[in-house]
Amino acid sequence: VAAPVDVEKCSNDVHMLVVPYPARGHNLVCIQLARKFLPYGVRVTLANIFDNLSPDLLHVCQTENITVANLGVCPADPGPGNLPFMGDVESVQGETEQLVANFASGTDSLPVTCIVGDILLGWTQNVADKFGIPRYVICTSRAGFLAAFLHMPTLAGQGIVPVQPPEASELVDIPGLPPTRRGDLSPAVQASSLFCKYFFAQYVHRCCQPALEAAGYFINSFYELEPSCIDLLRSFPYEHENSKGSSPVRSFFPVGPLVHDEYLQLLRLEVAEGSSFVEPGAPYLRWLDRQPTDSVLYVNFGSIVSLSKRQIHELALGLEASKQRFLLVVRPSTVKDSDEDLPLLPESFKAHTLETGFVQSQWVNQLDVLSHPAVGGFLTHCGWNSTLESICRGVPLLAWPFQADQMLNCRFLVDEAKTAVEVRKGENGFVSREEVARAARELMAEPEGDAVKENVRKLREKVKKAVCEADGSVQKSVENFLAELKTSRR
Ligand code: UDP
Repeated sequence: VAAPVDVEKCSNDVHMLVVPYPARGHNLVCIQLARKFLPYGVRVTLANIFDNLSPDLLHVCQTENITVANLGVCPADPGPGNLPFMGDVESVQGETEQLVANFASGTDSLPVTCIVGDILLGWTQNVADKFGIPRYVICTSRAGFLAAFLHMPTLAGQGIVPVQPPEASELVDIPGLPPTRRGDLSPAVQASSLFCKYFFAQYVHRCCQPALEAAGYFINSFYELEPSCIDLLRSFPYEHENSKGSSPVRSFFPVGPLVHDEYLQLLRLEVAEGSSFVEPGAPYLRWLDRQPTDSVLYVNFGSIVSLSKRQIHELALGLEASKQRFLLVVRPSTVKDSDEDLPLLPESFKAHTLETGFVQSQWVNQLDVLSHPAVGGFLTHCGWNSTLESICRGVPLLAWPFQADQMLNCRFLVDEAKTAVEVRKGENGFVSREEVARAARELMAEPEGDAVKENVRKLREKVKKAVCEADGSVQKSVENFLAELKTSRR
């Protein structure tokens, strides 16, 4: 964001307390959001719950002059997938209140004027209410996810969630979304999932319900990506328990993609110079250097998803059968049942590797991979960060969702944005080698894939405009928010 020249737009009297759910993805999105306001003179304090900001993110805060406030002590067992339990996270509410109180009573400190609380942290609404300041929700996912999230208390009231297994294929109407399969809603509301058993009530009453009381919403998306959903959100009269008949109009600010700054820098560079570049380095990049343009399918399921050994074995056979080049990332944590008596990768892969395929068993730099000219497709779990990153780099997708918002993201990518080919699941969610091969060929080698590639290219041009132009939709959202804060405080 270029520094505003217009003094009118400066907001030196705004002090934003940003409270992310303490997981890397959420921390990153919240910091990227905060950075958008710094050029306007806004003061930002970031709650570092359980002191778990990674060194690189801490460094960003230090260099950008974002104050970091450590809250709480990391619990001994941070929970499945190393994600802190919601109950543990709620325990820092008192400390957060103390922090806000300290700012209000200090003589040389600026009182907190608004709280930007993570979509999962409903209790940040209580803190805002206590001090009479507005809470804005930061939705780390897209507008369509927010639409489903805000409708969840209504669906619970109608008994549509929790979804019983036989109802999974039935459709439900959610304002802002096309008719939606009930089975594609969050695992938190699927009666068959263990997650639902322990988390359903918390999800609906302590995350979704308080989100309805917020003054407004930041969305990790840009207007041109989901225009009809965002328009609908803006006009829909959501109600909440305390609204007493009136349906307040709320504001929605699409300010994404809130991805790692390097993606945005590359977009800016391309706008300025019409070129992109990749640093040489790791072996997987050197291997990519030797592959033809747009020929490699990059396969990576993000940081949390894990697959059975049998499924990874089948996937590998499918990649081989597709006759497409591939870069397959399978880290130890990507494997769910490492004990099963089956080799992870087929025997044939030994000879195969480094010729038409490369298997990487460690984390890759996804920016480097997606920016490499040899990469022509991305088989993804539809995590929202990976999706946005792929759009920024103009890489078309193969969609294979597993959990959380991924099923709804898959529907959006395949049916609405038309930037992905779907990998279809068979019985019990298993994907056969034939299906992997079919989907890979369709995207990479057949005419059907051309339309998908063209749509991603168009979307990439839109994101460039939204992010890089001075009157782009992202900058407008940022300034509209600041203008709204000014009016509400008058
Ligand atoms: N990522 C990466 N290298 C890897 C795997 C993942 O850099 O080998 C990054 C990826 O660029 C993205 C994040 O990890 O920023 C994954 O986020 P996403 O929302 O896609 O999925 P999640 O891990 O939350 O399921």
